[in-house]
Amino acid sequence: MTIPTNSMSTNHSPIRLIIHGGAGTIDRQRLTTEREQAFRQVLSESLNAGHAVLKTGGNSIDAVIAAIVVMEDSPLFNAGKGAVFSHEGRNELDASIMDGATRMAGAVAGVTTIRNPIRAAHAVMTQSAHVLLIGRGAEDFAAGHGVEIVDPAYFYTQHRWDQLQKAIAKEQVVRDHDMESAPSPPNGDEKHGTVGAVALDCQGNLAAGTSTGGLTNKRYGRIGDSPIIGAGTYADNRSVAVSATGSGEVFIRAAAAFNTAAQVRLQHIPPAEAADRTLEEIAALGGDGGLIVLDAQGRYALRFNTSGMFRGTIGNDGVARTGIFPQDSDY
Ligand code: ASP
Repeated sequence: MTIPTNSMSTNHSPIRLIIHGGAGTIDRQRLTTEREQAFRQVLSESLNAGHAVLKTGGNSIDAVIAAIVVMEDSPLFNAGKGAVFSHEGRNELDASIMDGATRMAGAVAGVTTIRNPIRAAHAVMTQSAHVLLIGRGAEDFAAGHGVEIVDPAYFYTQHRWDQLQKAIAKEQVVRDHDMESAPSPPNGDEKHGTVGAVALDCQGNLAAGTSTGGLTNKRYGRIGDSPIIGAGTYADNRSVAVSATGSGEVFIRAAAAFNTAAQVRLQHIPPAEAADRTLEEIAALGGDGGLIVLDAQGRYALRFNTSGMFRGTIGNDGVARTGIFPQDSDY
């Protein structure tokens, strides 16, 4: 029997990276052209960083990390440098990552000194016997495994501090996306947040990761869906890689990421339909948000039931495509 050559080669294998920078009630009127360009610029840099890994034969895990680190290092997104403040005036970060080939996973939650929580999540996955480490223990583990530690002051940004004061004054615990409430926010850009990435490498392996600062004015060690495997993040080569953003408590209750993957694997429905069904369930439970979903054949979906989601994708052609509002594109 003759085996077609391209089935033996990785040259024609689809590679794909999809990212999000949070979904929410993003108001086009309030988003200035300059701010929109700034967001698109960082999204493109993130896509290009991940694509550089994939196009040279790198694996999907490394691509997810490369893409997320760019967004964590930007003050524009609610993750890493741009994380929102908790009630006590701290930046408490959460992140998770999952490998679709092995279904190994790692996560950290409530950390205050780790510059790039996605790297700490990766260290937990690859260098510990655990899946989820929290707080001081997670920080000690990360420091002991070569992950960069910073002074908590690194995460201070005036914009986020002002948001906290506003939320405290209104006695609200606010999802970053929903900071648009009157009187008007300065730049119309307060409704974005959590970042995430899913990738498919030339070996056909999937990976997913998510990173966030959580909710402005959160208390009592509140943790959302982002570091919870099966809620904010899931990857399984047999189905899809998923990263979520939205009402964290509802995404946990709906096991949103696993729910989406399970529909693809068990009911054989396409990624886009699975994402829509999960979002319908989220809506029925009173939540909203978005999902990015990618399968091992390269089929993908970027879905949200909010007015916008910062997002982007890049494939074999190496062209970074970004979007914010529904009408921006069909991806
Ligand atoms: N899902 C995140 C959380 O609940 C928030 C977000 O996506 O903006 O922590």
